[in-house]
Amino acid sequence: MTTGFWRIKKMSRSDNSKKSPVCWKLLSIGSGNTLFEDSYKLVAVSYPGMEHQSSVTYGNWYRNGYRQRDVSATGIGFKFDFIIVHESGHEWFGNNISMKDSADMWIHEGFTNYSENLFVEYHFGKKEAEDYVIGSRHNIKNDSPIIGVYGANREGSGDMYYKGGNMLHTIRHVLNDDSKWLSILRGLNAEFWHQTVSTEQIESFIARMVGVDLSKVFDQYLRTTKIPLLKYKVNGKTLSFKYERVVKGFAMPIRVIINGKEVVITPNEENKSLSFPKRSKHLKSIAISTLIWRNRICNVFSRPTLHSRGARPRRFMVIAILQAAPGESVISSEK
Ligand SMILES: [Zn+2]
Repeated sequence: MTTGFWRIKKMSRSDNSKKSPVCWKLLSIGSGNTLFEDSYKLVAVSYPGMEHQSSVTYGNWYRNGYRQRDVSATGIGFKFDFIIVHESGHEWFGNNISMKDSADMWIHEGFTNYSENLFVEYHFGKKEAEDYVIGSRHNIKNDSPIIGVYGANREGSGDMYYKGGNMLHTIRHVLNDDSKWLSILRGLNAEFWHQTVSTEQIESFIARMVGVDLSKVFDQYLRTTKIPLLKYKVNGKTLSFKYERVVKGFAMPIRVIINGKEVVITPNEENKSLSFPKRSKHLKSIAISTLIWRNRICNVFSRPTLHSRGARPRRFMVIAILQAAPGESVISSEK
């Protein structure tokens, strides 16, 4: 067996915190909300696997990855058994918190996809986790919205997995406070413990905790397939910028590096500008900081082919200086 399996006995809360994979540990919540209260089992089956409360089915050929491939195409996916981590993540998002209507299936799959990143981050590091989530973007199709049709037993796009996870990753970077982010994930499981909920309930809980109105961000990524485009122009010591292809009112802040200094800008659909003092250095370089660029809102969710000439999104970690990378479709400069 190449997979690292965890011996899981009947779990009390204290066992859980010592021996479980971290996504479980991270999501475990306070008193009165012990997970696995009805036990936890893996049951061998002849198909890849499926979440079932307290009885996850497993058939991933006892190998790391998912069906012997790496969903992130980075190599990181081969470091753990996808089925064990993903399907067990559903104990929180799917079993502890369930959707009211299958149109909101992303509540199960988006968050559970994100729990894979938590697992990777704990065991292999933050950079690995970022590479994993960003690598998974090549799976995003943007074929139809993530939220399906209400009252018709119709799920939305399969993008609920990777796009859902990437949206959460992006919100984490907007928040820029990891411990608070973790408290939000735990808070969701406490607030909605053993309940069926709607997307609106999840949205308003997160927005309340973050303290920022994220409704347009959720609208953009859950209810449309539009990929935001950040446009900017440099004129002397003035930088102007705006978003295109966004829902009305979309104003996601992003961090950029200007002349080597990090600045937060909040573009919207209107032209906004930032002027620098006369005695400051000539405005000669604008870059999305490497970290933020890799996690920024702009390139989240577009398919590789939409980026440029078939290049994989990860290539765009490299900074755009003054002008966008050739063919780049998510950030562009105007002369
Ligand atoms: Zn799932």
